[in-house]
Amino acid sequence: MSVYELIDKISKLQSEGKDLIRLDIGQPDLPVPDAVKEATKKAIDEDKTRYTHSKGIPELREAVAALHGVDEKNVIITAGGKFPIYSVLQQAVGKTTIVRPCWGAYPLILNRFNKEFDVIDTRFEDSFAPSFESLDNASMVAINYPNNPTGVTIGKDQFKELSDYSNDNNATILSDEVYTKMAFTETTSITEYDCDYICIGSFSKTFSMTGYRLGYAIASEENIKSIQEMQQLSTTSPADFAQHAALAALDIIDDVSREISDFYKKRRDEALALLDDAGFEVVPSDGTFYLFPRIDGDSNTFAMKLLEGGVSVLPGSPFGPYDSHFRISLVTDQMEKAVRIMKETRDTL
Ligand code: PMP
Repeated sequence: MSVYELIDKISKLQSEGKDLIRLDIGQPDLPVPDAVKEATKKAIDEDKTRYTHSKGIPELREAVAALHGVDEKNVIITAGGKFPIYSVLQQAVGKTTIVRPCWGAYPLILNRFNKEFDVIDTRFEDSFAPSFESLDNASMVAINYPNNPTGVTIGKDQFKELSDYSNDNNATILSDEVYTKMAFTETTSITEYDCDYICIGSFSKTFSMTGYRLGYAIASEENIKSIQEMQQLSTTSPADFAQHAALAALDIIDDVSREISDFYKKRRDEALALLDDAGFEVVPSDGTFYLFPRIDGDSNTFAMKLLEGGVSVLPGSPFGPYDSHFRISLVTDQMEKAVRIMKETRDTL
C-alpha cells in the first residue's frame, strides 16, 4: 500500500467517525497566537484583502530582513515555504544533492521536472549525521535542519563546510529552515554564512499558521527575481491579510519560539521515555515535533496494522530508503496510549 492510499484510508476512517490518534500530521497542535488572530481580523476589517506586490508587502519584507540581518532586496514573501522550494527545484540547473531522510516533496518535485539529483543517505547508527565529503559536482545542495522527519540538526562547522563547498564550486545551498524556531539546542542559519544560498522560512510551523499559506525566501537578487516571476505566473501574491497578520507574528517571535520549543521539548522527553520503555529505538531530536523510530520489520505493514488499532503514523518510505523506520508527530497529548498500541501492534508483526 502506498503512502497516498494510507492517507486516503486515514481520511476515510476519520469521516466514518473512527477514533484515531493522529501521529501522522505535520502541523503543531497549538492554536494560532491570539495577537496574530486579532491582527488577522483587524486586517480584514481594514480591507487588506487585495492583491499585493508579487514580492509581498514592503513592511513584511523589511521585518523579515531585520529578523535575519539581511537587506530587504534579498527577501521575497511567498505563498507558503513550499512555493519557493518548488520554484527553485523546478528551475534547478545541473545536479542537486539532497540529504535523506528528507521531506518527500524534494524528490517528488525534482522527479516531476526530470531534474538530475543524487542523494546523501544518513544512517540511524550515525544519529542521522550527514557527511558532506562525498559532495561531487552538485550545483545545488538541499538541506533541512532541524530535519523532517528525524528532528536532528547540524552544527556550525557543517554549515561552514557547506558554505565553503558553495564558494569553491559555485554551488547554491538551499537551506530549508522552516523548523529553526522550534529547536531545543543551539541552531544556526545559512544566512550567517557568506555564500550563495537560498534560505526558506515559514509562518506555518512556528505560529501554527499552516492554513495562512505564508513563507519567505532569502536569496541573491537574481534568485529572488526568478522566484518572484514564478509567483507572478502562479499565485500572483500571498494573501494580503495573512501578510498583515504575519507582521504581528514577527513582533512576538522570540516569545513564541521559546514557548513552542519548550512545549515540544517536554513532549519529546516524554515520548523518548515511553518509546524506550516499549523497546523502540529512536535518535533523540534536536527540534521539531517529529521523531523517526526504528522497528524490526517493514514499517508499511506496521503503519497499516497500527491504523486498524487506532493510531496513524507515516511509514519511512516517503522519506527515502527507510522501510524500518516510521515518523511520528508529537502533536497529541495521548502519547502514552499511542505507544501502548504501537507496542502491541509491533509484537504481532
Ligand atoms: N519544508 C519542510 C521540511 C516541511 O516539512 C514543510 C511542511 N510540511 C515545508 C517546508 C512547507 O511548509 P509551508 O509550505 O506550510 O510553509
